[in-house]
Amino acid sequence: MPKKSITELVLVRDLLDTVGGQDAIELVKICEKKKKMATDEEISKKMKKKVTDIRAILNKLHYRGIACYQKSRNQKTGWYNYTWEIKKDRIAEIIGEQQEENLEKLTQKKNLEADYCFFDCNQCNERAVFEIAAEYNFICPGCGGSMTSANDPSRQKELSGKIKKIEKELEILQKMK
Ligand SMILES: [Zn+2]
Repeated sequence: MPKKSITELVLVRDLLDTVGGQDAIELVKICEKKKKMATDEEISKKMKKKVTDIRAILNKLHYRGIACYQKSRNQKTGWYNYTWEIKKDRIAEIIGEQQEENLEKLTQKKNLEADYCFFDCNQCNERAVFEIAAEYNFICPGCGGSMTSANDPSRQKELSGKIKKIEKELEILQKMK
């Protein structure tokens, strides 16, 4: 079985996209495949992108500790070569921290919704308890959208599904780093 790329995980894709943009995903995938450290020129050729663009992405990743480089002087030209490496364990660390908080929030939301009867607007983020929503005839006071119960089984299922998906990815990530 071919080894899976870390970039197949939604959480990883989201993080890389946020830090370095869409191309950062492809860049990490290429570096992962190469195993040995890659120079910015090599990456730029593989991605068919300008080397300055690649450097910009690498710098953004470096800022978050996701990419690190080694500098060496080219004996012939006197220029410096930069070879880059992607830190998978750092990616796992950042996502772990992010998702810990996210999971807590989702679980809280899930428990809260199981306990209370909340009504959510279908169009904006307005949320009200039953009494208030009923007062407005289940029409959102903010935008006029209709308000429906947040406490229905499908919402609970949706939240549980979200939580499970995150937990699953975190587990895979721990094994891949
Ligand atoms: Zn609304």
